[in-house]
Amino acid sequence: MGWISHWELFRPDAVTVWRSRVVREKLSWYYNVMTNKAPAKFVLARYVGTTGDPSGMGLEELWKLHESLSREFGELLARAKDSKVSMEELRRLGRPAVSYLDVKVEIARRIMESCRFCEWRCGVDRLRGTRGFCRLADDTYVSSYFLHIGEEPPLVPSGTIFYGSCNFRCVFCQNHDISQEHPFSGIRVTPEELASIQDYLRSEGARNINHVGGDPTPNIYTILSSLRHVRSNVPQLWNSNMYLSEESMSLLLDVIDIWLPDFKYGSDGCAARLSLVKNYFSVVARNLRMVCERGDPIIIRHLVLPNHLDCCTEPVLKWISENCPTALVNVMGQYRPEYLVLRHPEKYPDVARRPTGGELRRAYELAGNLGLDFEDVS
Ligand code: SF4
Repeated sequence: MGWISHWELFRPDAVTVWRSRVVREKLSWYYNVMTNKAPAKFVLARYVGTTGDPSGMGLEELWKLHESLSREFGELLARAKDSKVSMEELRRLGRPAVSYLDVKVEIARRIMESCRFCEWRCGVDRLRGTRGFCRLADDTYVSSYFLHIGEEPPLVPSGTIFYGSCNFRCVFCQNHDISQEHPFSGIRVTPEELASIQDYLRSEGARNINHVGGDPTPNIYTILSSLRHVRSNVPQLWNSNMYLSEESMSLLLDVIDIWLPDFKYGSDGCAARLSLVKNYFSVVARNLRMVCERGDPIIIRHLVLPNHLDCCTEPVLKWISENCPTALVNVMGQYRPEYLVLRHPEKYPDVARRPTGGELRRAYELAGNLGLDFEDVS
């Protein structure tokens, strides 16, 4: 009799989900990395080499170099997708003195000097200890890390790393203790320590490394730096509110193997009132389009909010059907009032209850009528 992992007992759907042709097709790159049939993108990025010292270059020059290395990376990735690049072959090649990943790390460091990792574009010099909206300087805090068995079936068990801090202020945040309460709790980590956490999670059976928070975006510099030191081959998963700047997206597109974004609000007014962000829809839509145009594996999460079917659920699902047909969609029904909504329900009467069965049925019907692939992951 074969050995059964404890997560297989609790989540048999994490095994059976791979019988779905839709899931196998839409997540094929992720599946190949997860099963070590292909090298993760960050591994490939370490083997695309250049000459010169990135620390001596101007930012414009670095971005030009990044663009040309991205083309080389694309060729290598295409070969890896055709199973023509193995880990053994890469090891034989040897790592270059300066890699595409090193260039990304240097660009991220420069961005920290006038921070624009996300669309707050605070412009603060985080390397000198100044803090913007997310209240992080150059420090990164890990609140916890473990094998998560509550995520979508293709992701379980997920090697989840919860970072302190967030660039949103959601009034119903379930993780407000780690995302919004400052000073941040958790351990302060160096890139090397963050790499060790990732290797540990993979060795324990993680199918992926799930960067989440709070939000991982303010920690891009530490995360990219950590990938220089990760020893294992493991898919990188970006679990985010997707409020990244275009520059951050450019840094991540050739590194992240599977995306797990939230897409909550169909109206900027709802986003401003409930998460305190501006221009929500256009920013998130732009970033999702960048991922979807490449056909990269993506599971979009839409949290159904009570009383927000017309203003949020309907436009979000419609947008996905028109712009991201390659996505799997998780229509989430688990909203419950938390944090400020629980403390001051009179201020947020629209979201001061769970969604009704009727509201959830309407959300699922909408997803079905729009032809979204949601059944396997909702
Ligand atoms: S990550 Fe975003 S919120 Fe934080 S300092 Fe940078 S631009 Fe501001």
